[in-house]
Amino acid sequence: MVISCANIWKRKENQRYIVNNQERSGWELLEQWAEHAEALAAPRLRELDRTAERNHWKVIRAFQKFKVSDFHFSGSTGYGYNDRGREVLDEVYAEVFGAEAALVRPHFASGTHTISCALFGALRPGDELLYITGRPYDTLHKVIGNEGDGNGSLKDWGITYSEVALLEDRGIDWAQVERSISSKTKVIGIQRSRGYAWRSSLSVAEIGEMVKRIRQLKPDCIIFVDNCYGEFTEELEPTQVGVDLMAGSLIKNPGGGLASTGGYICGRADLVEKASYRLTAPGIGGEVGAMLGTLRATYQGLFLAPHLVGQALRGAVFAAALLELLGFDSNPSWDAQRSDLIQAIRFGREDALIAFVQGIQRAAAVDAHVVPEPWDMPGYDYPVIMAAGTFIQGGSLELSADAPIREPYIAYMQGGLTYSHVKFGVLTALLEMQKRGIIVIKPNMT
Ligand SMILES: *Cc1c(COP(=O)(O)O)cnc(C)c1O
Repeated sequence: MVISCANIWKRKENQRYIVNNQERSGWELLEQWAEHAEALAAPRLRELDRTAERNHWKVIRAFQKFKVSDFHFSGSTGYGYNDRGREVLDEVYAEVFGAEAALVRPHFASGTHTISCALFGALRPGDELLYITGRPYDTLHKVIGNEGDGNGSLKDWGITYSEVALLEDRGIDWAQVERSISSKTKVIGIQRSRGYAWRSSLSVAEIGEMVKRIRQLKPDCIIFVDNCYGEFTEELEPTQVGVDLMAGSLIKNPGGGLASTGGYICGRADLVEKASYRLTAPGIGGEVGAMLGTLRATYQGLFLAPHLVGQALRGAVFAAALLELLGFDSNPSWDAQRSDLIQAIRFGREDALIAFVQGIQRAAAVDAHVVPEPWDMPGYDYPVIMAAGTFIQGGSLELSADAPIREPYIAYMQGGLTYSHVKFGVLTALLEMQKRGIIVIKPNMT
């Protein structure tokens, strides 16, 4: 039998290798370390499977409740009046996220566009937006804008903004929040994900506590959560713990790697409706919008999303465990609770960071032959390097890694449609670092 021949041959090779470890290839040594990391993280990996399973059932039950059928996938053209697939998709999302209503559309061009519609829908001139989790995600700075910038930003429309930085221990600075709330405060913003910062994401339980506290301080304000990267990382979503309005991107978690574009907004029905008037036009809202051929992939993506988020999280835990075993700093640590997809790794050296990011690209199924280089991205004060060999352009539920080239040289890795791909990516990246003489991989003696 061919298989047993191969096994014998392998065993012989191993015997020779055991005699002299130095002869082992870097890849084999890495695989050894990987096994050790997997054994270490096994309980955590099992927990993530459990969460993925519960969320998967939750999504299936929502599909069943609204009797999703093949004809919902066909899609409309023109105005898209009475597109049943679109209406049911909204209902399924609202059910999954425990919200009164949802607006799920391919017409949202990105996460930023989606969040922008949610905020412009809820705020009016003279109101104030207060972020209590520090600086929001970079692309939102221009949405908030500057007074008189002529861009039609929030500030340009007379909507003021203030923010309260997170405390050192990543807690909310409640004393400062209390001082910042005024009669003008209409929307309080919370970012669930760490974004590209060396901080933890906020858990849904923590967000629930925040909601209670905000309600005491200002019962009538609207609590908004930027849920990007957070969906299905836990069994509950922010709208299930009292958040009024929430938004996210379909080329991240809930699109399940299949939705080719779009975003969603969910929450209180009146606020979702107001947001829909920003997406299309006042009075028209979500009643129009041809879905073209996007529905099947959007439904199927949602069906798969809990599993894929689980795979990406497993990959992140594996990466953290392995890199910690090898002596790197990772955040979150492999055994920490997670509420988003992002895995930060601190390299402390520019060449190590670049080798790692380039190694992630080398492990892609798409564009593996392309070598990413740091470049001066508009809007950043320092060069940025990005690895993204993805099926969906910029799709960050797929394995990707980004890093600003600045001290202390942190890579932000996220996504992975399969656990094995993340593992392949991390091992390839470490091998790349070894090839460049940055690290020496020694046999794992334990
Ligand atoms: C990705 C992201 C956004 C913006 O989404 P884009 O699709 O990049 O416009 C906003 N907030 C957070 C936390 C994100 O991760």
